[in-house]
Amino acid sequence: MPKTLPAGTETTEEDELEEDFDEEEESIEYKFTPRPVFLATNCQVCKSPLRNLVQCESCRMVSYCNEEHRRSDAAGHKDLCSVIMEIAKRRGGHIYNMAHKLTDEEYRNLRVYTLNQSEQMLKRPLQAFEREVLLFPRTCCSPSCREWRQDLLTECKDCRQVSYCEAHPDHLLPSHDQWCKAFFLFQKLILRQKILGRIEPVLPVRIVGKSFQLPPNIDEVIKFLYKNSSALRDECAYATLTQIATAPLTALHGYMQAGLRPSETFTIHLVGAELQFEGDTLDKWEAFFLHIVPEITELRLVFVGPELNVENLPIDIISRIRMCRSCRLRCRVVKFDFQCRRFYHDYRQDQCYSQPNLICFFNPGLHRSTGFGSLDTWPKTIIAATDAHCPILVTAYTEYESPLDLARLQKEAKRPLEVIQEPTHNPFASQRPDRNFISQEIEPMIFKNYFYFMVK
Ligand SMILES: [Zn+2]
Ligand SMILES: [Zn+2]
Ligand SMILES: [Zn+2]
Ligand SMILES: [Zn+2]
Ligand SMILES: [Zn+2]
Repeated sequence: MPKTLPAGTETTEEDELEEDFDEEEESIEYKFTPRPVFLATNCQVCKSPLRNLVQCESCRMVSYCNEEHRRSDAAGHKDLCSVIMEIAKRRGGHIYNMAHKLTDEEYRNLRVYTLNQSEQMLKRPLQAFEREVLLFPRTCCSPSCREWRQDLLTECKDCRQVSYCEAHPDHLLPSHDQWCKAFFLFQKLILRQKILGRIEPVLPVRIVGKSFQLPPNIDEVIKFLYKNSSALRDECAYATLTQIATAPLTALHGYMQAGLRPSETFTIHLVGAELQFEGDTLDKWEAFFLHIVPEITELRLVFVGPELNVENLPIDIISRIRMCRSCRLRCRVVKFDFQCRRFYHDYRQDQCYSQPNLICFFNPGLHRSTGFGSLDTWPKTIIAATDAHCPILVTAYTEYESPLDLARLQKEAKRPLEVIQEPTHNPFASQRPDRNFISQEIEPMIFKNYFYFMVK
């Protein structure tokens, strides 16, 4: 747990606060450093928004704020640039110069195809930011236009993230209004991370003593847990905090909705877990779950997923994540179990399987049949999960996906499921925006755990 509170934090008598500053050096935390992100409308090197474009004149897909930044990126950009030029030549000048004739779906396929083609030509997988060069290019946002000639384009004055034809202001779609703020925040987060590195909001240290009613949404919980924190005034830190808190709070909210009270030992299975999300800032499970559920003495988290990989992470480091002093005094503990590179249905058969009180699927996309490594393994996983006869929580990035996920769960389960909560907005969703590629035209920005449903 973090050992200091932000300036101005008040305490009351019912709070129990962490005081062991002397033990700070012993605490070990596991955190991800942010990866480089490509923004077509910002300098590739310093990420500042572009006013005077200095483009890579060869591929015209990457821009810089000045000559010096262009030169400093030359070596890193060379590989992809030559491949883009080669493809552009075959397509008659620019890789996306046919895009205006395509439907949304076809344009999406063209970009994925271009990505695959580039990887084949380079004989290596593209890095994440290289993929973004091809997936999120600077083109006019109007689907009937998709102008690619860079000198004809300009950006929304407010977010500077969405491009349209300067000569046709109506090409900036009216629906952009509702996403503009999210685009702006997205850019601000990338810029901040570029300059200052990872954003690390201080986790709350308040511990609830009596039986406690969960406030109705994530803002109220955060207000309650911090009272008066500087983290709440910084937009970037706040959005990051909601991204950290959403998994434990959504799990708790869902479980409460099932009309159950947590037991002394409480086990949650996190199916299809990603270390970068459910496993990032692991002490969030103490701060946003254990500390607000006084009934629990031992919280057990089992992370299971084929993409889960803790090879670079010594298991003993995880086991050394220290509980706060109050928890240590009361022998309260969060235990982590990482079932790496495994399917849930395989874990179900294993001797080490432990019966869960709650199963969570965070943003799994159950309706998609592409699954893992193009094998659809969801049917087996769904049977294994519904076999546990406990509440199951499933979240989704979009309103569109959530009912499809529910239908898939019901179809694959070997027994009728009781729907505790139909697909609905999650009041504990993350407020940190991310770009959407899959259904970009409907929801260009997405949020973790945006929608959810519960079954039993
Ligand atoms: Zn720059
Ligand atoms: Zn280039
Ligand atoms: Zn246009
Ligand atoms: Zn805008
Ligand atoms: Zn604690």
